Amino acid sequence: MAAPKVAVVGAGVIGLSTALCIVETCPSCSVTILSDQFSPNTTGDVAAGMLIPHTYPDTPIHVQKQWFKETFTYLFAISNSAEASEAGIHLVSGWQVFKSTPKEKLPFWSDVVLGFRPMSEAELQKFPQHQFGQAFTTLKCECPPYLLWLEKRLKATGVQMYTRKVADLWDLHSEYDIIVNCAGIGAHQLVGDKKLFPVRGQVLKVHAPWVKNFIRDGDGLTYIYPGIHSITLGGTREKESWSLSPDPGTTKDIFDRCCSLEPSLQKAQDIKAKVGLRPSRHCVRLQREVLSQGGVKLPVVHNYGHGASGFSVHRGTAREAARLVAECIAALQGSSSRAKL
Ligand code: FAD
Repeated sequence: MAAPKVAVVGAGVIGLSTALCIVETCPSCSVTILSDQFSPNTTGDVAAGMLIPHTYPDTPIHVQKQWFKETFTYLFAISNSAEASEAGIHLVSGWQVFKSTPKEKLPFWSDVVLGFRPMSEAELQKFPQHQFGQAFTTLKCECPPYLLWLEKRLKATGVQMYTRKVADLWDLHSEYDIIVNCAGIGAHQLVGDKKLFPVRGQVLKVHAPWVKNFIRDGDGLTYIYPGIHSITLGGTREKESWSLSPDPGTTKDIFDRCCSLEPSLQKAQDIKAKVGLRPSRHCVRLQREVLSQGGVKLPVVHNYGHGASGFSVHRGTAREAARLVAECIAALQGSSSRAKL
């Protein structure tokens, strides 16, 4: 069989990293990315890109931990290389603080991040409204740099990228052998997945270069994540809300909540509000499917529904999706050699 033609639908952090893993796993493939939006107009361009995973209720913890570990290891190596500044990957240390002591003092990812430990009494004095805290160092992916770095690597390996909205995956059957669906929240319409829902997030990007440590309230709603050029202040989690317009009342509320955790932010400048829709599901859809019409078959690999953890687990799920693509290629090669007999 000739080099299999693979189309990846979507150019967010999931589509780009999946395309890269496919090229690495199956170098004989010809890979094309089709997407109606590219950076800086993807969900990741709104996100803080912190490697602190949320839990997917319907995915076994050991699987989520493996995805996180693979992602952390991959990005840690980049952060420790000459590529770090171009890729926008850096280490960041800080605190997760709780108003009352949580039941779970050791989250599943505590031995993947660096130096995880309970905060000392002296550190807790910085947070008079909080009783308990955890200190650790993790990684942050800056967007757009990280997405542009992925695009550059893909182009260097010959991957083609086209702006195109796909109305139906079946429309691609005459041009491609395998389709990889990384459409994020777009999969709601594209494949009619009713288990996928938006969790709207509003954040502020501000200039306050003196704030160097991250601070996250244990409820996950209020956070201060310093990046290379700006700080992300959050946030909101509004289930089933599709609105992409920032709300001025929410902007004020986020700013006030963050100032109460870090009073020096009162002097922050250049405040910009941004909104993104987390593509949420009880588990990531990481699955093979075969579409079929009139005896013609089209293998599809789905990789979407990463919710609030797309950056935290992207490399792990991309590698798994690439393994599924390799299985589809083996199945296609098996059926083409049977057809020749
Ligand atoms: P997207 O970035 O939305 O990409 C989907 C792509 O598919 C787009 O390019 C789109 O144009 C394309 N597409 C969709 N439909 C079609 C179609 N029909 N035809 C062609 N193309 C199509 N995660 C973390 O790990 N850490 C964080 O700190 C973090 N903070 C966040 C803060 C906020 C406010 C938000 C909103 C999210 C945050 N996330 C965070 C979550 C993370 O941003 C997402 O999980 C991740 O960006 C999802 O990536 P994706 O590639 O699946 O989706």
